[in-house]
Amino acid sequence: MKKALILLTSVFLYQACYCWGFYGHKKINHYSVFLLPPQMMVFYKPNIDFISEHAVDPDMRRYAIPEEGPRHYIDIDRYGSFPYDSLPKNWNDAVAKYSEDTLMKHGIVPWWVQIMQRRLTEAFKEKNAVKILKLSAEIGHYLGDAHVPLHASSNHNGQHTGQHGIHGFWESRVPELLAEKEWDFFIGKAAYIKSPAGFIWDRVLESAAASDTVLKYEKELTKEFSADQKFSFEDRNGKITRQYSSAFCKAYNEKLKGMIERRMRQSIYAVASFWYTAWVDAGQPELSKLNNQAITPEDQKEFEKLQQAWRSNSIKGREHTPSP
Ligand SMILES: [Zn+2]
Repeated sequence: MKKALILLTSVFLYQACYCWGFYGHKKINHYSVFLLPPQMMVFYKPNIDFISEHAVDPDMRRYAIPEEGPRHYIDIDRYGSFPYDSLPKNWNDAVAKYSEDTLMKHGIVPWWVQIMQRRLTEAFKEKNAVKILKLSAEIGHYLGDAHVPLHASSNHNGQHTGQHGIHGFWESRVPELLAEKEWDFFIGKAAYIKSPAGFIWDRVLESAAASDTVLKYEKELTKEFSADQKFSFEDRNGKITRQYSSAFCKAYNEKLKGMIERRMRQSIYAVASFWYTAWVDAGQPELSKLNNQAITPEDQKEFEKLQQAWRSNSIKGREHTPSP
């Protein structure tokens, strides 16, 4: 009984990772730094650990404040069918048509990314090193989420189709297994984005269009695997956890023809390009002298609070992936 309980807790702990998992978000922010021009690299490179570590702050904040949840997704299928023309892409028009409550209920990631972009641009204008780093890390998170197909679907964890766990499977388990060994993250250079709004909506629509495939292929593959082939028990940081087996992950990745790698690469390109665009829009401030601005005790306290809230393990508001 006790053993079963420990096992169940472990399964829960594993599944309580959200949005590219902590692993994916950190990698996305990390690799994004290498797409930047030298004038930005001089500041971002020495701070690459901060940018990577704090990529997951928005997920931790979901344990602290209820307003945080909707910033990570949009259940766009609540607004009709692809390409969702009936949903106004402008926030005020969308509020007028559906009410703010409805928009918050179904998620606001494409709008939230634009707010973060404006904040980051302001931080560059102020030459506030800590703000630039925090906002860069956090916009990286929301951009990454917007690239995940199941962040643009109301069936976000396969809960309507008996595919519980598919959320973490696509965005955490498969990348953790394959990214380091098999995927390629050398991706050209950041580009200036003329319309951040247009850019983020295009990505969200791509995610929405891909979500059917993500679900369908998992279902098809499940028919080819027996339960004990589909899942395996593996040691994860000293805990035995039930996970999708390596064989199932690899078969799924193959069936998707590299979709997860492509979305991750596209996320990296988007993150670097949003950072670059904010810097250009702020008038390309000189960043080389910002490195000696230290993190204030208040900032440190805020990070610690986020960590504590996350450890408390109780989400405020909706979860992306309901516990099993
Ligand atoms: Zn998230």
